[in-house]
Amino acid sequence: MKKILLIGKSNRTYDLRSLLSGDYDITIAESVEEIDTAFQDVSAVIIDSELALKNDFSFLKQERKKGTLVFTPLIVITDNPQTDEELKCLSYDVVDFLPTPFRKLTVINRIENAIRIKDSASFYEIERMLKALPSNIYLKDAEGRYIFATHYWHHIDHSSDPDWTIRGKTDVDIRKDKENAQIAMEKDLDIIRTGKGTSYLIEINTDGKQEFFNVFKEPVRDRDGNISGIVGLINNVTEHETIKRQWQSAAIMDGMTGLFNRREIQLQIERAITDSRQNNTVFSVVMLDIDNFKQVNDCYGHKTGDNVIIALADILKNNMGDKFSAGRWGGEEFMILLRDTEISPAFYIAESIRKSFENIEFPDIRPQTVSVGVTQLKESDTSDTLCMRVDDGLYKAKKRGKNCVVVVY
Ligand code: GH3
Ligand code: MG
Ligand code: MG
Repeated sequence: MKKILLIGKSNRTYDLRSLLSGDYDITIAESVEEIDTAFQDVSAVIIDSELALKNDFSFLKQERKKGTLVFTPLIVITDNPQTDEELKCLSYDVVDFLPTPFRKLTVINRIENAIRIKDSASFYEIERMLKALPSNIYLKDAEGRYIFATHYWHHIDHSSDPDWTIRGKTDVDIRKDKENAQIAMEKDLDIIRTGKGTSYLIEINTDGKQEFFNVFKEPVRDRDGNISGIVGLINNVTEHETIKRQWQSAAIMDGMTGLFNRREIQLQIERAITDSRQNNTVFSVVMLDIDNFKQVNDCYGHKTGDNVIIALADILKNNMGDKFSAGRWGGEEFMILLRDTEISPAFYIAESIRKSFENIEFPDIRPQTVSVGVTQLKESDTSDTLCMRVDDGLYKAKKRGKNCVVVVY
């Protein structure tokens, strides 16, 4: 049985209690002072007009201020709901009047209606409260049209009209990031079709900002279990995602040169071996080592040495692409992975890098040179045998007098 709190001590109050005692669990408070938090779990509060109007609506004003009745309908019983004073109760969140004489069915129906109206009003209250959270929380209908969204973020293209509403609009209608809008709508349709929720990360680049958002979506079902819409939660995770990406990139990059680190280029070579075997393709590797580098350090200092390393790394970086991956193998040693490249084009690439490096003019030292080994993947190779062979090419290049490329088959 639903609980109802009746406040008052007039005959009307007691009449109503007798009338409804079989239908509701009724508690009576004879004065407003008697009310404590008891009315928190009641479905409706009915107050006698004598008390409601007393001291210039003091009870109503106080309850409204406290906000304790936000989710509970407040109904006034009265002999004459038509007076101006009583009608003013409506402005203090009274939902309905029950006029005497009471007729049981009418009273019950009006109480039930009041409960329903208040329940749906709570929807707006909840929306208002959710706006206080940093997340964007929204509801869409079963066709992906917004019913509400707690935040209108800057990537939404809306007019400055204060009455502008998101209600009835789709992502494609309102978002500046049209590609993400399309994805959002496709995800919505998937949820509606399959009844399964989803979560994904989106990157938004609008208004000159790069941002990342975590999106969670779940279907909303009506009482019969049919999908009636989608509820969504979006969190701005830009800070977290940016740091994560920096860490991820730091884990695979060499800080000084901006090339891949040794572990990463080694992994890429191993993956390339697997891919080549699967797709029946070949690739080549190139190993480089700066000539007489110790002398540069010894004569001109470490800083100048660093600049020489960076100058060679910059040449490699300029060539980076789908087929070209370069990493720092050691101090002044580098490894290049040339995907889908046979040994002879690999030789030309190596040769052109060697020449480019030789032609660099340094501000404080004479031009520097690099020795290079080149080889191509063989059927029997492991990454170790492949690296040993290219190292052998490099060793031979040093033996041959440096500043040259040696190919090892
Ligand atoms: P070779 O022509 O035979 O390669 O002679 P090399 O002097 O280049 O040979 P070696 O490998 O003996 O010397 C490499 C030197 O590179 C040794 C080390 O002190 C220096 N080195 C390693 N890492 C760095 C670095 O990050 N910066 C600088 N400035 N020097 C480095
Ligand atoms: Mg070396
Ligand atoms: Mg060297």
